[in-house]
Amino acid sequence: MTLRHIVVVGTGATGLGVLETLRRGGCDGQITMVGDETALPYDRPPLSKRFLTGEWNQEQLNLRSEESLSELSAGWMSGCRASGLDTHQRRLFLDDGTAISYDELVIATGVRPRWLPLTEHLDGAHVLRTVGDAIELRQALTDNPELVVVGGGFLGAETAAAVATLGCEVTLLSSEDAPLAGALGSEVATVLAARHHQHGVRIEQGRAERVSLTPDGSVDGILLEDGRHLPGKNVLMTIGSHPNVEWLEGSGIPADRTVECDERGQVAPGVWAAGDVAAWWHPEMGRSVCLEHRTNATEQGMNVARSILGQPPIARSVPYVWSDQYDVKVQVYGFPRDADSFEVVDGNLDDGKFTAVYGKDGVVCAAVGANMARSLRPLRTHVAARTPWADLDRLQPAAAAN
Ligand SMILES: Cc1cc2nc3c(=O)[nH]c(=O)nc-3n(C[C@H](O)[C@H](O)[C@H](O)COP(=O)(O)OP(=O)(O)OC[C@H]3O[C@@H](n4cnc5c(N)ncnc54)[C@H](O)[C@@H]3O)c2cc1C
Repeated sequence: MTLRHIVVVGTGATGLGVLETLRRGGCDGQITMVGDETALPYDRPPLSKRFLTGEWNQEQLNLRSEESLSELSAGWMSGCRASGLDTHQRRLFLDDGTAISYDELVIATGVRPRWLPLTEHLDGAHVLRTVGDAIELRQALTDNPELVVVGGGFLGAETAAAVATLGCEVTLLSSEDAPLAGALGSEVATVLAARHHQHGVRIEQGRAERVSLTPDGSVDGILLEDGRHLPGKNVLMTIGSHPNVEWLEGSGIPADRTVECDERGQVAPGVWAAGDVAAWWHPEMGRSVCLEHRTNATEQGMNVARSILGQPPIARSVPYVWSDQYDVKVQVYGFPRDADSFEVVDGNLDDGKFTAVYGKDGVVCAAVGANMARSLRPLRTHVAARTPWADLDRLQPAAAAN
């Protein structure tokens, strides 16, 4: 299929998914990849896991080898930042003043971490999004093996786990009753909190007000809104993210926060968005949904490419995220947040090996497993089908049989 020029902005997992699917789908036109990072496309999940603990080196993060990338015959503009867009003239502007004409443009610029106010340039204050962030954090912990993690979501909890296994002194600050209590419910959060305690991680509940400094200006912990002080020479902020959308200002693209798309990822004629930066309309849920998850990044990238090629999308899969904490691999299908019912259907919580289903308004809304991938997999269909909670008995033999 001949398409003249497709430009993909963002060279992470989403951008790569777009490129590969275009070429595999027979696109023989010009494709230009624009990204402000200089490294080859790399995977972010290991940054808070095996890369942080030193088990993996930087090369192992690469999503593809240089050779495989060159076979995709794309033009790579690495270290280039998109700074503006004219959707009428179909032109993309870069911060070095270059303008690039396109026929189709894909926005895959992801998100960047939020910082506590006035912390961005402090020694000892960290975020974790890029390979550079991970290298810096690892070095800082070698020099001063103390860390206060602000934020008890997936990223905070698994970074605390990784850093604790390195023998560092770790405090994990969560605004909820326990880390991940909101995302996974109190039952599963309690299991994971017990693992943190076993590994010496101190869990505190509260809200960070600001980073505290010594008289000479070095970080020495976090001051909480209630006046308590959590000491630590390093502070990691995992308190949410900002989508990278500023460069779209004035383009007419609806991007107050995330880029608002239809259910195929289209934003405007010739403009698409996918991955962490995008919120796709979800017809079954009746609202836009933004999923900052790795599997979603690739799937949406693939689906945008298929739409550009005029091919039907691959079926939308059930939202999926995983998290590794110590010896526990947690896998999540669907949306456990705000569930009103919870039941373990296989294994048991105390062993840290179980599958559980979550219900909301009388239907199954999510399934979560810990170290039980085979037992969990069949439950996906019940999440997708929104099986009535009253039919839960039916699920138990299904799970046990696997
Ligand atoms: C430490 C960490 C651990 C994670 N662990 C998990 C996990 O265990 N499970 C899971 O499901 N998900 C996990 N995630 C989330 C997952 O990695 C993301 O969902 C995924 O990487 C999103 O890919 P993306 O391509 O949409 O965005 P990104 O990977 O952020 O790629 C966007 C790219 O665009 C570039 N860019 C931004 N603005 C511009 C611009 N103006 N011009 C040019 N380029 C620009 C960015 O620098 C970046 O290179 C983790 C994320 C992090 C950071």
